[in-house]
Amino acid sequence: MHDHRRLGRELELFGTDPLIGAGLPYWLPDGAAVRHALEEYVRDAERRAGYRHVYSPVLGKRELYEISGHWSHYSEDMFPPMEMGGDEVLLRPSLCPHHALIYRSRARSHRELPLRMAELGGMYRAELSGVLGGLNRVRAVQLNDAHVFCTLEQAADEARAALEMIGRAYEAMGIRAARHRLSLPGPGGKYVDDPGKWRRSTALLREVLDSTGIAYEAVEGEAAFYGPKIDVQVVDGAGRESTLSTVQIDFHQPERFGLRYVGADGAEHRPVMVHRSVVGSVERAVGQLIEEHDGAFPAWLAPVQLVALPVSKAQGPDAEAFLRRCAALGLRAESAGPGRGSLGARVRAARLVPYQVVIGAKEAADGLVSVRLRDGRRVGPLPADEFLARVGALVSAYRTGLWEE
Ligand SMILES: [Zn+2]
Repeated sequence: MHDHRRLGRELELFGTDPLIGAGLPYWLPDGAAVRHALEEYVRDAERRAGYRHVYSPVLGKRELYEISGHWSHYSEDMFPPMEMGGDEVLLRPSLCPHHALIYRSRARSHRELPLRMAELGGMYRAELSGVLGGLNRVRAVQLNDAHVFCTLEQAADEARAALEMIGRAYEAMGIRAARHRLSLPGPGGKYVDDPGKWRRSTALLREVLDSTGIAYEAVEGEAAFYGPKIDVQVVDGAGRESTLSTVQIDFHQPERFGLRYVGADGAEHRPVMVHRSVVGSVERAVGQLIEEHDGAFPAWLAPVQLVALPVSKAQGPDAEAFLRRCAALGLRAESAGPGRGSLGARVRAARLVPYQVVIGAKEAADGLVSVRLRDGRRVGPLPADEFLARVGALVSAYRTGLWEE
């Protein structure tokens, strides 16, 4: 594994500028292409799993975070308030309070539950400048977040389904979970004081983990202030462990926000909130992807998926036609002509591109392509349409393999 900060510079994925500030990276076109593919994967997986997407603003009044408990338990990690028309406005430290308000924007029936609300949304963390670097610790976070509002009886199944989504996402991304952690409260006043709720939510999370057979360690002092969580830990190239994905069962915020639903018995009940993030922050997820793959991303994530290599100038127009076919299929392709050096030099320069498509005089005449896969295997010559259909199918199925079924 390599340091994603160095690869991020070399591959022109992201950068920083002191005038923007520490912990506030910007994304260059190739990095943005990777991020966009990841975000689309997440939205697609969520839609298939019955989530509905919302948007909510990155700001909220201080009073909102007093209700949620962030202000009393979490304010040292938040940016200071801004004065605005007599109100104090905060950059949000999480999306949960906004989603709780959306839930309670009208009366809810048990027939709507589980109500799965997802957002890829911005949030802010006042990280100290000493710990900032690259994409792992940032002050402006784009979080893949969701909250499932459900009955107590549904909570374990929802948490289990979220863990399964995480497993599928890691398979598609080709990254490994180092371990699963049951994060419990520790000493100190950081946590909401309600032992009964902590016992119930911890028991539910243990039940979920035990039923899936996933090995886990319970660690004190790593819970959220409002409840315990299952954290999926990854390890970066330097051996540092961090949390990427999380699943939490929360009895606290539904009570703080007075959330209700009308049950089958006609009476009002309190829903449970399952907080879950499949890929965590988009920044950390892409940082981890860069390190795991040394920049050689699975094809569905690669900024450039195919490179067309015309053998001589005469095949330039054929390479251009090939690029147009790729674009029509939604595939990201570039061409590297003989002006960029010998064929061998161009293949080496494109070493991270999953599909290196050689177009010679014979191929051009017959509508064929000869392909060198990034791992050195060779495919073809075969009809260009057949090749592109195969690549398109692998990419849209989020496969990590470059050619196999
Ligand atoms: Zn949440």
